[in-house]
Amino acid sequence: MKPYSKLSILMLAVFLVFGASCTAKEKKVQQAETEEAVDEEAIRIASIAVSQLPENMQGNILNNMDAFKADLAAVLAEDSRFFIIADKSHLLTADYNPGELVSLDGKGIKVNKKGMKLEKVTFEALKKMISDSAEEGLSLMVSSAYRDYKYQVGLYNYYISKYGKEKTDTFSAPPGASQHQLGTVIDFNDVENTFAGTKEEKWLTENAWKYGFSLSFPKGYEDVTGYDWESWHFRYVTRAGAEFQKKYFDNIQHYMLLFLDSYRN
Ligand SMILES: [Zn+2]
Repeated sequence: MKPYSKLSILMLAVFLVFGASCTAKEKKVQQAETEEAVDEEAIRIASIAVSQLPENMQGNILNNMDAFKADLAAVLAEDSRFFIIADKSHLLTADYNPGELVSLDGKGIKVNKKGMKLEKVTFEALKKMISDSAEEGLSLMVSSAYRDYKYQVGLYNYYISKYGKEKTDTFSAPPGASQHQLGTVIDFNDVENTFAGTKEEKWLTENAWKYGFSLSFPKGYEDVTGYDWESWHFRYVTRAGAEFQKKYFDNIQHYMLLFLDSYRN
């Protein structure tokens, strides 16, 4: 896509928002009509996009404003907990409530240890995704799911004692900064990038969005997400959210979450 300067984006936004240009003819009437046609929501969307997103994404949104607004409404109709940002600059509290948690034990899902739990809606979506993938001969195993704040305190401190803080911060979240505390995240199989390129990983890359899952920390976006690439770590963002992310945010979850966070607050 052709790059857009900030100014051209703003001009485009103004054009989209105000529609037809005013001529001198019947100026007063047209001015009144224009004022009526001011679309507050479109202005808001455009200003968030311009201030927070890379230029190609700004263009994507501004050039498709009506469709974007409709798709945004579908995402906003979902439970907002599926779009909470949890990272080093947006910490969850120690008592964050993940909603109803379901045990993965005895559910016909391959797990690498007992006692793991997931948020209920996420669990249902995962169950469907795993059973569909199994029909294609694939073997997805859950290696990590919900982790509470206290668990993350222990894990983070353990890594620091082993690797030091600087190294630890590239791959482990400090307490409150882990998406796992949301109860909507699964680590699959190896929990190593040896997972990348396996038929399971390829299948997830192709199909996870259909079940509402998206990769949280993609390759090449370490500076954006604050984490190293994790080919195994998927977060449930609802089907509407996963489509929204693909359509307008280059399939980068972090940009979608940032946008939604600004839009809501
Ligand atoms: Zn993970």
